[in-house]
Amino acid sequence: MNLVTFSIKTKGVGNFARRLRTVFTRFGFSEDRTRRALGIIMDSLQKYNAVPTFFIPAVVLRRHAALIAEIAQLGTEIGIHGYVHNDYRCLNEHEQYDQTKQAISVFEGTQISYHGFRNPYLGWTNASLCVFTALGFAYESNEAIVHDVIDLDSLSPLLRGGYEKSLALFQAIPCHAYTLRPHFEGTLLRIPTSIPDDEMLFDRLRFTDPKEVGGIWNRVMQGVYDLGGLYTLNLHPERAVPCRQALETLLSYASTQQLPVWITSLKDVAMWWKERSQFRLSITPQAPGRWRVEAICTPRATLLARHLTVEDQPTTPWMDADILVRSHSFSINTEKCPCIGVSSRTPEEVVSFLYEQGYPAQRCSQEVSENYALYVDLPEGLGVEREAQTQKKCALVQQIETLAMPFLHFGCWPDGSRAALAISGDIDSVTIQDFFLRVFEVRQKSH
Ligand SMILES: [Zn+2]
Repeated sequence: MNLVTFSIKTKGVGNFARRLRTVFTRFGFSEDRTRRALGIIMDSLQKYNAVPTFFIPAVVLRRHAALIAEIAQLGTEIGIHGYVHNDYRCLNEHEQYDQTKQAISVFEGTQISYHGFRNPYLGWTNASLCVFTALGFAYESNEAIVHDVIDLDSLSPLLRGGYEKSLALFQAIPCHAYTLRPHFEGTLLRIPTSIPDDEMLFDRLRFTDPKEVGGIWNRVMQGVYDLGGLYTLNLHPERAVPCRQALETLLSYASTQQLPVWITSLKDVAMWWKERSQFRLSITPQAPGRWRVEAICTPRATLLARHLTVEDQPTTPWMDADILVRSHSFSINTEKCPCIGVSSRTPEEVVSFLYEQGYPAQRCSQEVSENYALYVDLPEGLGVEREAQTQKKCALVQQIETLAMPFLHFGCWPDGSRAALAISGDIDSVTIQDFFLRVFEVRQKSH
C-alpha cells in the first residue's frame, strides 16, 4: 500500500485533497520550517528538563543528517521509523529484517545512536518483534492504546466511520492499568503509544481549536494518572505550530498533579523498566504477625505499602491506601504475609509476570494460601494467544491493584512518580521534496 492509497483508504478523497494543501503550509522547500517545528517541541519540554523522542525513516535521515545530528546533540532522542515510510504488514519477515538492517546501517553511517523502533502506521506484526529482537533494539513503541476521549455520538457518520477505520488500522488496544505499562517480550521492551494522535484529531476529526485539543490531551493524562500508567503522546512535528498551545497546556497539567508525573523520553522509559525488572522484595517472618522486609532495588525505586504501618521509618501518603516508604529495610506488623502466594502448579511465567509488574510473589501450598494477601492458582498459565493473554494479564493486575489487604509492592515509575508522560513524534518528512519522494521510495520497497 503506498501513501496515496493509504490516505485515500483511511481518510477519503476529500481529506486527501485537504492534506495536499496543508503539506505546502507545514513544509517548505528548505529545512527551515521543520527546524522551527522541532524547536517548538524541544523548547516546550526543556522547561520541564525533558526531551522528546522523534522517529525518522532512514532515507529522510540520510537527506537531513546535519539537522538531526544538531537536535540529537541537544539531547533529543532519535529512533528508527523504517528504512522508508512503508507498512511492515505488507512485508514478510525476511523483507522486514533486510529493510530494518538497511535502516540501521544508515543510522550507523550518521553516528546518530538509536534505541527504539516505531513502525510507520504503527504497522507491527509478530515478525517485526522477532526482527527487532534479533537486531538488538532495546524497545519498540507500536502498541496503540486507545483512550476514550472522543464523544463518538457527536461525530457525523462520515467522521465516525473514518475514526473507526483508523482504530482498526492502528490495531487499537483498550486502555487499562496493565496495557498502559511497558512490558517485556523476551529481551524486547514494548512501550505503548497512545491514540487518537494529532493526525486523527486534526486531519480526520477536524479538531482545530488548540483549547479543545489541549482539553482532550489533559483528559487522556488524567485517565493515565488515575491508572498509574504511561502516556506516550504522538505528535508529528509537522503539526507543532498548531499544537504548541495544547502541548504547553498538557505539560503544565501533568506537572501540577498532586503526585509527580515523570516527563521523559522513551529511551529513559526503556532503561528504567529494565532497571526495575530486577527489583525484588524479600519478606521473612520475624515473629508471629511481624515481618522483616528487605527491598533489593536502586535508590530511585518507588516502594509502596498498602494498609500497613512501617516501624520506625518515615513514610509519606501516596495514592489511596498506598504509602511511600523511603527506607529499603524495615519491619512491619501484620497478620498475613503482604505478598502474593502462588500455587505450585502455576507455571513460572506467572511468577515472572508478577515480578515484572512490581509485585512480590512466593510459592506456597494451598493449605497455607490463607496466610497471603492473595493466592494465585493459574494452572493454565497466561494462555497462548496474544489477545487472551492480555485479557488475563489485565484481570490479574486489576485484581492486585484493587486488593484491599496489607500488601507491599513497587510503583511503576521512579522517585515516587504516579504516572509518566513521553512526548514522541514521527518526522515522516522534513521538506516538501521528502513528502513527494515518499511515494516513490515506498513503491520501490514493496512487492
Ligand atoms: Zn510516520
